Amino acid sequence: MKNPYRGSLLLALLALLLMAGADRLVSPGAAPAAASSVLLGEVDGLRLFAGETPPEGVPTLFDRETLYAGNLLYVSPDAPLPAWLPEPQTRDVRGMVHLYVPAEERVSLSEETIYALCRMVKENPLSGIRIAAGMRSPREQQALQDEAFAVYRRTMPVASAIAQAEADVPSSGCGEHQLSTAFDIRFSAAQEWGRDDPMARTADGRWLLKNAWRYGFIRRYPPDRAEVTGVKNETTHWRYVGREHAAAMHAAGFCLEEYLRALHEGGALRLLSDEGDEVWLLCRPLDQEGAFFPIPQGWSAEVSADNLGWAVCTMKGHSSR
Ligand SMILES: [Zn+2]
Repeated sequence: MKNPYRGSLLLALLALLLMAGADRLVSPGAAPAAASSVLLGEVDGLRLFAGETPPEGVPTLFDRETLYAGNLLYVSPDAPLPAWLPEPQTRDVRGMVHLYVPAEERVSLSEETIYALCRMVKENPLSGIRIAAGMRSPREQQALQDEAFAVYRRTMPVASAIAQAEADVPSSGCGEHQLSTAFDIRFSAAQEWGRDDPMARTADGRWLLKNAWRYGFIRRYPPDRAEVTGVKNETTHWRYVGREHAAAMHAAGFCLEEYLRALHEGGALRLLSDEGDEVWLLCRPLDQEGAFFPIPQGWSAEVSADNLGWAVCTMKGHSSR
């Protein structure tokens, strides 16, 4: 007797085989065939994915000191920098690259940040802006808050003046200007005051909004993310995080908080570019020893703590997929 289910079983098998084959045909060498792969964003030739399985590699331990020297530290009044962290090495921007990068006097940043600014200025002279307010020592930061308090104290009760000063100027150790990678932009060109966003009021500002990610810079507190960052009055504050992190954030339109949340939740993100670059961004909990990351043979890796109990590793190399 003929089995009535045989035909449909064969059809189902055929459909399964076709689906498996189609998966390979649709994206050869691109996203791996992970059922849970999610495209988080796509822009300017970049694509950021979550939910994929990273390549295997040799487990490598990075200690806390190494991780805390990275470029992805999150700093806020809720997440102050640890007291044991040494003050970062900085150089005076004017002293190092006088007349090349337009900067105000006494602006200190890490060498890596200054080199990235140089690369950026090579393509766009940025003659209409100045780099200002780089790294501040804890004492300089406190002095700024004290100044703000003195101004508010003239018109407010003490408690309100303290609260207002703390809202305007983070306490020592609680703000990004304690890092060697953050700075403010000031404008020297005439501004088009009709625009709401201060960064969009000059041609250089608009160029930065569109292109700064290519050199590793992020606008740290975008006005449309004030709810997420909790910071409203730092619309011209920028920060160097390295090209891979900046590109990943740009691809998905993430601010730093959103990016770190995606890393904490996903554990691994994969960034692809139209030029054929493939970057893995891995996230692991940080313990007393540090954090392990599986680095495939021959791949390059850069690491950073995020100051929220996690470590992040950027891996670049050649995928066998
Ligand atoms: Zn700032």
